[in-house]
Amino acid sequence: MNPQDLEKWRRAAAIACHVRKYVASLAKPGAKLIDIALAGHARIEELGGKPAFPLQMSRNHIAAHYCAWIGDPTTLQEGDVVKIDCGVHVDGFVADTAMTVDLSLDGRNRKLVEASQAALDAAIRVAGPDVDVIEIGREVERVIRSFGFSPVKNLTGHSVGRWIIHGPPQIPNVPVGRGKLRPGTCVAIEPFASTGAGIVKESGDAHVFMVRRDLKKAKGVDDGVYDAIRAFGGLPFGSRDLVAHLPFKAVSDSLNALSRDDQLMVYPPLCEKKGELVAQFEHTLLITDSGVEVLTASEDALRTPLSV
Ligand code: MN
Ligand code: MN
Repeated sequence: MNPQDLEKWRRAAAIACHVRKYVASLAKPGAKLIDIALAGHARIEELGGKPAFPLQMSRNHIAAHYCAWIGDPTTLQEGDVVKIDCGVHVDGFVADTAMTVDLSLDGRNRKLVEASQAALDAAIRVAGPDVDVIEIGREVERVIRSFGFSPVKNLTGHSVGRWIIHGPPQIPNVPVGRGKLRPGTCVAIEPFASTGAGIVKESGDAHVFMVRRDLKKAKGVDDGVYDAIRAFGGLPFGSRDLVAHLPFKAVSDSLNALSRDDQLMVYPPLCEKKGELVAQFEHTLLITDSGVEVLTASEDALRTPLSV
């Protein structure tokens, strides 16, 4: 990888690391999800990045893809297990990182959170050049089961690229699939631990979207909305990113029109059974010739200005 690209990638990852921790510090009982999410986005931009996807906070049995919308009344409660999933890009170079906070006063969900964290640590120890993704999945499952929980089988990590959030190979939480970690690529590893069976299903309204391919003007799509969607460069965006500065009706009519034209992927929340709890940790790693660099583990790159 050329040094300029790596510098941007490290910068995106450092911003993502900072904002993950910042958002976790705001996640307290009584806080509104939408307020925290918008504060996270503002911090990303202050630090010179852009969201690589809308910052998401998924509570309890919702494993991923809960994206608060403008007017969303959801507030955090005592006892919530909250996944904070933060993606940042600098000039298209994407970093993806997540952590879980246990909002219980008595720490009753601490073990679940530790299971996911320990699985990520173990996966990072196994990761390296030309390691088979099955070996990562085997380690993630082993660690999560050793805590008495289930790995979520149908969620996976992935590679990240320039303007790409989900590339191959998939990095499983159980020993399945195929592919190797290639030197010079970046991958996001994200073990999910569940109190339930470890299967998630789509449930609820989608507020996250991504264009399928090169965006084309379709009948019924507002010019302003079209330009705003193009500006995401093919990365996912939230309804709130559009509604913040465009008329609500133009946004909803345009999203419907693009959807009818088969140009939009929609991402509803991914949920375990109600009553179960899910924890997740995620880091983006650079696979080097000799090992790995855990890009989203450090904010150090923020201390020096970008040279490019
Ligand atoms: Mn993520
Ligand atoms: Mn990810």
